Amino acid sequence: MSDCLFCGMVAGSIPADVVHETDRVLAFRDINPQAPTHVLVIPKEHHPNVGALAAADPALLGEVVGAAHQVAQQEGLVADDGEPGYRVVTNTGRQAGQSVFHVHLHVLGGRALGWPPG
Ligand code: AMP
Ligand code: ZN
Repeated sequence: MSDCLFCGMVAGSIPADVVHETDRVLAFRDINPQAPTHVLVIPKEHHPNVGALAAADPALLGEVVGAAHQVAQQEGLVADDGEPGYRVVTNTGRQAGQSVFHVHLHVLGGRALGWPPG
């Protein structure tokens, strides 16, 4: 989509601090980090939210989730025992805090994360 920020990053017309890339997935640092590590993981193909992605291409959703875990490993957030750990968040809709309507997983870690979220 021509007016989509994250499609612009995939196309290379908008700069991104890329930490992981495959043929179908891109991961880059959030410009306004909410934790010591805050990476966004997206499918390169445009889907507006996680439900739309799950309906259109469940295998791609699996690749995005797998990439999120790989990023967490490479950032030192998680070892084979699952510790110390990280959080994956995806917001759907404005009430939930979605501001970019190209599905993305937030990978957050590097500090203790409170629950429930705000
Ligand atoms: P959400 O509000 O859940 O849709 O998440 C969108 C995220 O994109 C926010 O955490 C923003 O800080 C982040 N963001 C917005 N513009 C950029 C950018 N140019 N580069 C990296 N992250 C961005
Ligand atoms: Zn897009």
